Amino acid sequence: MKRIVFASNNPGKVREVAHLLAPTGLEVVPQSEYLVPEAEETGLSFVENAILKARNACQHTGLPAIADDSGLEVDALQGEPGIYSARFAGPDASDADNNSLLLGELAGVPEPERSARYQCAMIFMRHAEDPMPLVCQASWEGRILEAPRGEGGFGYDPLFWLPDLACTVAELDADSKNRLSHRGHALRALVAALQERAES
Ligand code: IMP
Repeated sequence: MKRIVFASNNPGKVREVAHLLAPTGLEVVPQSEYLVPEAEETGLSFVENAILKARNACQHTGLPAIADDSGLEVDALQGEPGIYSARFAGPDASDADNNSLLLGELAGVPEPERSARYQCAMIFMRHAEDPMPLVCQASWEGRILEAPRGEGGFGYDPLFWLPDLACTVAELDADSKNRLSHRGHALRALVAALQERAES
């Protein structure tokens, strides 16, 4: 079984990615098992930051790595918090801090103007100097509620409303979120690209 390190310390993401990769036969190990220090996210795009994370994990483990960088783009905030989603309310912000800042920033914004999307860039690198990382991107459209609903998921999920399903992402079960999410779509595309590469 091929061992790949997943370059994230976010337990919500580790759970989702392990679940999605379980049927592939790839053994995915979170970078915390190798005590990999957090990469500095100095890029200006999701793709750049995901590459920085994957390269950092390859460097510290000698293994191939998968990394994602993801975040929430809110149209009424000109795309904020975007690549700064994890640290919207400051470097050590909790999900609750970020959610309350988001609600504050959107106070008074009427429902028709509360469109938003999750973005995800998912990367695979064979080694730290890989000049040809696999890059897959996906997004997930929704609206930002005026108050949180639901206990599942992580991050902005309690505020991220899915009009077609009439629920927030935090009200979805894990399988449904993985089937529908930006990360699920990007990761399935990455797995397909990996399989294609292995067969060629
Ligand atoms: P990253 O770990 O640097 O990619 O930061 C991602 C941040 O974007 C998370 O900490 C959340 O704030 C937000 N985010 C990304 N994906 C999701 C999701 O599926 N649900 C909720 N929040 C998300």
